[in-house]
Amino acid sequence: MTGARVGSSLTDEQEAIRDLVREFAAEEVRPGAGEADEAESFPEDAWDGLAELGLTGLTVPEAYGGFEADETTYAVVNEELAYGHLAVATALSVHCLATSCIAEFGSEAQRERWLPEMAAEGRPVGMFCLSEPHAGSNPAEMSTTAEYDPETDEYVLDGEKQWITNGKRGGVAIVFAKAVDPGAEGAETDDGDADRDDTGSITQFLVPADTEGFEVGEKEEKLGLRASDTTGISFDDCRVPAENRLTEEGEGLSAAFRTLTGGRIGIAAQAVGLAQAAFDEAESYAAEREQFGGPIDDIQTIRHTFAEMATDISAARLLVREACRQAEAGEDNRVAASQAKYRASETAMSVTNEAVQIHGGYGYTTEFDVERFYRDAKITEIYEGTTEIQKTIIAQGVLGK
Ligand SMILES: Cc1cc2nc3c(=O)[nH]c(=O)nc-3n(C[C@H](O)[C@H](O)[C@H](O)COP(=O)(O)OP(=O)(O)OC[C@H]3O[C@@H](n4cnc5c(N)ncnc54)[C@H](O)[C@@H]3O)c2cc1C
Repeated sequence: MTGARVGSSLTDEQEAIRDLVREFAAEEVRPGAGEADEAESFPEDAWDGLAELGLTGLTVPEAYGGFEADETTYAVVNEELAYGHLAVATALSVHCLATSCIAEFGSEAQRERWLPEMAAEGRPVGMFCLSEPHAGSNPAEMSTTAEYDPETDEYVLDGEKQWITNGKRGGVAIVFAKAVDPGAEGAETDDGDADRDDTGSITQFLVPADTEGFEVGEKEEKLGLRASDTTGISFDDCRVPAENRLTEEGEGLSAAFRTLTGGRIGIAAQAVGLAQAAFDEAESYAAEREQFGGPIDDIQTIRHTFAEMATDISAARLLVREACRQAEAGEDNRVAASQAKYRASETAMSVTNEAVQIHGGYGYTTEFDVERFYRDAKITEIYEGTTEIQKTIIAQGVLGK
């Protein structure tokens, strides 16, 4: 069993945090996961527990009361939380996307207004609104607009976002929209600024959920991750002060991609945690379940399956750690982050599949957690960039074109 936990070495502090989150996930998160999944209801008590541990401020700078975690710590927390319940880890990682954007792009006043509360209380919960009904893998095709009104010095947002995690429970959103400003000449063209998107005008805004015209849709009914609250959000004449614009006009998409590189490492780590949970459940079951006069973990075919699962999990975890190492060394880790997400999500799929198989018919029932793990694993191949998009990024990196 310990062999399945191979990973590059952690500092004493990282190990201490890992152990803390591992214990919290085992005692406070995992026990309620099945019920929350069945009820399609987010476990707010687990969230409050995360806040008490300071983890809702994981990526918030210390100056604003946060944890200011390095990449490895961020990954380790995501892995351990996903071991407990993927929906909780997903909610936290999206909250962290929002706090990271406010920390990196917000004004001093915005940081002071939002970050201490989001870190200490875990509320308001953060959202990250990039995807739209007709723009997923290619967000450059988004149609949400933000029209500048010079009379009131506001932007007026109109459009529709889809698949927004924390949609109903969220209190503040990072929203991407195409700036429409007839007065700003050149807004639709590439002006040569390296940060400016070649798609023109996509811009990042901070939008409190209680703003008039911010409308939250119904919760999606999903295959897995059922406790996570996923909704559409529409903007109908939704006015925000110009100071809520977090990037220059046209610099929103490159900012989103930078944020998502870090986010992908978190999702990859979650996939590792989910795979590890499935491995451990299968290991316990196979030691107990007897067929042909002995435990099934004496059957060579099943032993080989464990060998394959353990090796895949270790390989995925090491890719996650390498992507973290590159980030911490200040290197361009886009390819490594995509490799980690691609390999780890594939591992989550294959290991949860094998874990169900090792449980036989029982694995196909809701009596055993592996059934939920199997359903949950699929999302790791889809959100924050599908497997195909990860392969596109990797190919561009390794082929140089
Ligand atoms: C549960 C859940 C939570 C989510 N949370 C959020 C969130 O909080 N915020 C947010 O903004 N988004 C969120 N998303 C959206 C998610 O990131 C998108 O679903 C994802 O990026 C894919 O976009 P799409 O669904 O529009 O698929 P599409 O882009 O329509 O893709 C459909 C298929 O075509 C493939 N494809 C598309 N383009 C290419 C290409 N160029 N080369 C090869 N294959 C291609 C894709 O890989 C996929 O297999 C969430 C989604 C889900 C399901």
